[in-house]
Amino acid sequence: MTPLRVQLEQDDIPTHWYNIVADFKNPPLPPLGPDGNPVSPEQMAAIFPMPLLEQEMSAQRWIEIPDEVRQIYAQWRPSPLCRALRLEQALGTPAKIFYKYEGVSPAGSHKPNSAVPQAYFNKIAGTKKLTTETGAGQWGCSIALAGQMFGLPVRVFMVKVSYEQKPFRRSMMQTWGAEVFASPTNITQAGRDALAKDPNNQGSLGLAISEAVEEAAADPNTCYTLGSVLNHVLLHQTVIGLEAKKQFEKIGLYPDVVFGPCGGGSSFAGIAFPFLADKAAGDKRATNLRCVAVEPTSCPTLTKGHYAYDYGDVSGYTPIMKMYTLGHDFMPPGIHAGGLRYHGASPLISQLLHEKLIEAQSVAQIGTFEAGVQFACAEGIIPAPESCHGIRAAIDEALRCKISGEPKVILVNVTGHGHFDMSSYDKYFAGKLEDYDYPAEAIANSLQHLPKVG
Ligand SMILES: *Cc1c(COP(=O)(O)O)cnc(C)c1O
Repeated sequence: MTPLRVQLEQDDIPTHWYNIVADFKNPPLPPLGPDGNPVSPEQMAAIFPMPLLEQEMSAQRWIEIPDEVRQIYAQWRPSPLCRALRLEQALGTPAKIFYKYEGVSPAGSHKPNSAVPQAYFNKIAGTKKLTTETGAGQWGCSIALAGQMFGLPVRVFMVKVSYEQKPFRRSMMQTWGAEVFASPTNITQAGRDALAKDPNNQGSLGLAISEAVEEAAADPNTCYTLGSVLNHVLLHQTVIGLEAKKQFEKIGLYPDVVFGPCGGGSSFAGIAFPFLADKAAGDKRATNLRCVAVEPTSCPTLTKGHYAYDYGDVSGYTPIMKMYTLGHDFMPPGIHAGGLRYHGASPLISQLLHEKLIEAQSVAQIGTFEAGVQFACAEGIIPAPESCHGIRAAIDEALRCKISGEPKVILVNVTGHGHFDMSSYDKYFAGKLEDYDYPAEAIANSLQHLPKVG
């Protein structure tokens, strides 16, 4: 029989996360404060605990995963690496398609891989409460779950429009004990200011970030958590690729190309960085390896953005970071892959792209759902709309192999299941989804507002 699922044991859960910064030829540029100087650790310590700040700034190649965290990972990790044999047959491709499935976590996505260590390091540093923001609800659910596991109360500022449209994600957070507020609220100054200007404000991720950061900054016992973009979040996600490498070793194969969806970039980093480590180490199997980040054409940060310093949020509250950006006040069209609607990208991913060590590609919305349905029919799993982006690109690659006859080994990161996104699938079936044009004018406008540096 062809092996369909590559089995690992609990002991195969990685003991260390891989920090790609150790293999960077040029050290990453530091985040800058409003005065144009690098943000000091003391400034960051107002909202993040020391152990996570140390990881954020570390250049050490391997960082130990605490036993308490591995113990919780063990509930769903190692996650499966599966061969998409029925999909290959449906496509008639000579390529071998493998997917790493992260939907097996209790929250249904890869995000608990970082939520659990973030809650753990906050707990041991003496933090008493966590705040965060959430858009579509995936991160809010993951940190609610992790906070519950370590006995830390969690406050989630959920963008008002999602709060109303995604009631079940809110219920999940509440089930795990989190307090969930529709942002803007009247409990923070940022929220009150927004409501004074417009009592019907529907909220935005940038505003919700401002509320969560304001709460954390005002209380020495409260810390802020973020579900993507930052170095320590990408670090935690490398368990995905480290496991995948072991799984490929077990069956004597190595991928030619790795695909994953890319919003802030944490799951893409998670699957790709451990393979890029082989490349950096001169491993011959990795010489021609390609890693491709896949994003929506309507929010084309990596493929059409500028590599420049910009704010992480809409209101200009965060430090500025060197990254690919569409401009911090760019409002992407309302596509259904909420996790990919971010104007920026992780500085580490951005630098790798700038130095041509990874590639980026964009795909249009309707084609992503088409790929998701094809994947679901062949493999059974209904992927999250975000995950459908990576699957679209993997299917396209497999179809190119059909023409060229190349039996490539393709790896795709299926970052989560779509069980809470079925209303988006409904819209696809009803023919109500749109392919938004590349919003050239809005992006050009927004890029004029990049902060001036130097
Ligand atoms: C949040 C999310 C993403 C995008 O975030 P990254 O940080 O780029 O990984 C992708 N897929 C799923 C299922 C998500 O929840």
